[in-house]
Amino acid sequence: MKEYETNQGSGHTNNESNSPVGLIFDVQRYSIHDGPGIRTTVFFKGCPLRCWWCHNPEGIDPVKELMYFEYKCMRCGDCAKVCPTGAIEFKGKPRIFRPLCTACGNCSDACPAGALRLVGKEYTVEELMKEIEKDVLYFDNSGGGVTFSGGEPLFQADFLLEVLKECKNRYIHRALDTAGFASREVLASAMGYVDLFLYDLKLIDEKEHIKYTGVSNTLIKENLRFLVDSGRAQDVILRFPVIPGITDTPDNVDDMAEFISNLRGLREINLLPFHDVSEKYHRLDREYLMTVRKSPPQEKLLEIKEKFESIGLRVKI
Ligand code: SF4
Ligand code: SF4
Repeated sequence: MKEYETNQGSGHTNNESNSPVGLIFDVQRYSIHDGPGIRTTVFFKGCPLRCWWCHNPEGIDPVKELMYFEYKCMRCGDCAKVCPTGAIEFKGKPRIFRPLCTACGNCSDACPAGALRLVGKEYTVEELMKEIEKDVLYFDNSGGGVTFSGGEPLFQADFLLEVLKECKNRYIHRALDTAGFASREVLASAMGYVDLFLYDLKLIDEKEHIKYTGVSNTLIKENLRFLVDSGRAQDVILRFPVIPGITDTPDNVDDMAEFISNLRGLREINLLPFHDVSEKYHRLDREYLMTVRKSPPQEKLLEIKEKFESIGLRVKI
């Protein structure tokens, strides 16, 4: 699975047909929060950002990985017995040495309690289209469609592009949930096949952005400007994660409002309140850097809503 790590912006290929193969960690049906109507949301694995608060940590690494649900575990030790690489040590409960894990899936198959789950599944374009097409009637009746989310869908650009094209050929509405951290070339190639961009903006100050997401925001801001300058402002809904003490500060909200005001034609922003997902990090043995556990209070959300409304944006929480 190493190829995903070096293959940013492409995905990998199926050697027999030479067509791209995607690594997907979930396909959620009947979603009503990821664009208009009833939608199927496809979650791509792999993201170049490392946001402290990431609500989908299982989507960060572009490889398959194990999630361990301790509360389900019967402490039987079967997983350790079937592991071919010695990646599981059993001493009263299993402990996973992740560098040794080759994601073979033996342990999750053998587990009688469903306590181990291998996250990430390879799909060819046709396989994913079959999943998406199951819901076409719902799309047609509700004005919905498919939303590509993650992780960062643009991280597997070749695969995404092929799926976008297929959806367009089949008249399925396409939304792209993106952090905007992709090369201009990648964004431009996908742009013509995307009906709606759900575009994340987090922090305007560059140093803060680097601190809390691991990357500079210059490319993200430039790509948003590019979409607007390309006449696509009406097709963009901004998404603002409201993270206590990090993105919800008066300075950042003021800076956001000023930045957005200078981009003509943007109409809507959605506020995405923080919630505690520490348990998910625990299941992946991943460090959770957030110390705050409480979601932002309603007054804070209304205060931010008011600010964005004052610059003419429609605001949804
Ligand atoms: S997925 Fe395979 S290699 Fe990884 S811990 Fe389970 S059995 Fe071992
Ligand atoms: S096989 Fe499943 S239930 Fe048994 S110890 Fe391993 S994780 Fe727990």
